[in-house]
Amino acid sequence: LISLDKVEKWYGAFHALKNINLSVRKGEKIVLCGPSGSGKSTLIRCINALELIQGGKIVVEGQLLDGTTKAVDAIRREVGMVFQNFNLFPHMTVLQNCALAPMRVRGASRADAEKLARKYLERVRILDQAEKYPAQLSGGQQQRVAIARALCMEPKAMLFDEPTSALDPEMVKEVLDTMIGLARDGMTMICVTHEMGFARQVADRVIFMASGEIIEEAEPETFFKNPTHERTKAFLGEIL
Ligand code: ATP
Ligand code: MG
Repeated sequence: LISLDKVEKWYGAFHALKNINLSVRKGEKIVLCGPSGSGKSTLIRCINALELIQGGKIVVEGQLLDGTTKAVDAIRREVGMVFQNFNLFPHMTVLQNCALAPMRVRGASRADAEKLARKYLERVRILDQAEKYPAQLSGGQQQRVAIARALCMEPKAMLFDEPTSALDPEMVKEVLDTMIGLARDGMTMICVTHEMGFARQVADRVIFMASGEIIEEAEPETFFKNPTHERTKAFLGEIL
């Protein structure tokens, strides 16, 4: 469903991604972890065409990401993204936030878009908040709305960039439970997270990055019990 082949990303003179090879099958769940600045966000932003790459290639659902508007639009339709800081539109209600993209990007009527919005708000169990504005919700609720909003595009895959790291501890679980639900329903997911309980529970593979490279990847069981690289061991020592 998603494949990266020898991907290179530079920010000016800074080499942010080095020879990244990764392929994600339909329904697969990947957890991406690694120290701050290792390139995790850069990697998933490249998959969603929020960043351009300078070498190699990325293909999503058969669509080569070549930097053309057509490719970018196609990828954004297929791949949903959830950010650390929710990124909801503050001047719109929860329902309007969710209905916007289906109307703008897919040309849905307001009625159809709102129907879709209600369906996915129900799915993340927050339909009762549909008429509120983001600032009137808790962080955990806002993040669940952000997930519902992404789902309204009925994406083939979802990318999560540290979706729980801006939340108070008591709200982490509700968001993780929502993500676990999605995983159970068969969604293809790439999650940047340091929630290792989540990784153990849902990941098919855990990928460890450092300095712009994939250092190690393994099934969670192996990754946590027998990491092979020193850097992985050091990292796990710090976060577990
Ligand atoms: P964190 O855990 O802190 O979120 P990360 O693994 O997501 O870190 P990235 O945000 O991908 O790391 O950044 C990787 C490197 O690229 C960092 O050294 C960062 O300073 C650099 N970088 C990221 N975005 C830009 C940018 N727009 N311009 C220049 N350098 C950038
Ligand atoms: Mg990041």
